[in-house]
Amino acid sequence: MNWLTNFVKPKIQALVAKKEVPDNLWHKCPSCGAMIFHRDLEENLHVCQHCGHHMRLDPARRLKMLFDPGYQTIELPKVLVDPLKFRDQKRYTDRLKEAQSKTNRQDAIVVAHGKIDGQGAVAAVFDFNFMGGSMGMAVGEGLLAAAKLAVLQQVPLIAIPASGGARMQEAILSLMQMPRTIIAVEMVKEAGLPYIVVLTDPTTGGVTASFAMLGDIHIAEPGAQIGFAGARVIESTIRETLPEGFQRSEYLLDHGMVDMVVHRKELRSTLGRVIDLLRRPGPGAEIVRMPRGDGPDRGGSRKPVSIKGGAGAR
Ligand SMILES: [Zn+2]
Repeated sequence: MNWLTNFVKPKIQALVAKKEVPDNLWHKCPSCGAMIFHRDLEENLHVCQHCGHHMRLDPARRLKMLFDPGYQTIELPKVLVDPLKFRDQKRYTDRLKEAQSKTNRQDAIVVAHGKIDGQGAVAAVFDFNFMGGSMGMAVGEGLLAAAKLAVLQQVPLIAIPASGGARMQEAILSLMQMPRTIIAVEMVKEAGLPYIVVLTDPTTGGVTASFAMLGDIHIAEPGAQIGFAGARVIESTIRETLPEGFQRSEYLLDHGMVDMVVHRKELRSTLGRVIDLLRRPGPGAEIVRMPRGDGPDRGGSRKPVSIKGGAGAR
């Protein structure tokens, strides 16, 4: 009977056994409810092919989509963990550990450098899956590191927030990251380098109130929620019904808060073009000869006067 149990039985079991099916083969679009096959979703950069809804993106996917091959992520500085010993229903340290094992990341930010459509750049990308992309000390440090790297490499800084705002478990220390990230942005601007923000869904709270609204150029993904306080809070405060599409990219474009709303598949080429325009040296100086014997400098110099183009300031 040994051969029956040892040989035949496993064979039969293998034939009958259900093949393991990953449970995430189909994704439901949160906007139109259509079921999308995971391969189509991947090919379509996580944009619904039925309604064009831009789904939230993992930083690894975002970087791959944005950069040319060969980009690198950098290790971020370590910060003090939970100096306030904060606890609500759970310990903050436990929450952190949970988020870390879920996302396989130290905190809610990833910094990478490489080329975007041939243009050198440093990008700081938020992970909304890590405690709602909230900005604590580690995120502040990450943005500072990104700014320093951009200055060091003399390339533009691109911030891609996806965040609910400040991390309440870090209280005042979290709020302090607002001025710190603004200083980071100032460093880049003082070095004469472009600072571009790509606003993704959602960009709210303390992130909107600091570095995310200071870009030289603001690009937004279609349909992204961008605002400070939530729409419901505003509605109940001012006791008025808010207009259709309030706090969405397209609404903000109409009202001058955003420069461009760009489809995800055009994001890389758009960023490449914008960086190229911002960094292009100004037009060659035109030589203007002063008419001889004219002007206050009578009979004087025949030195050609050159006028430098203003766009060359960068
Ligand atoms: Zn859809």
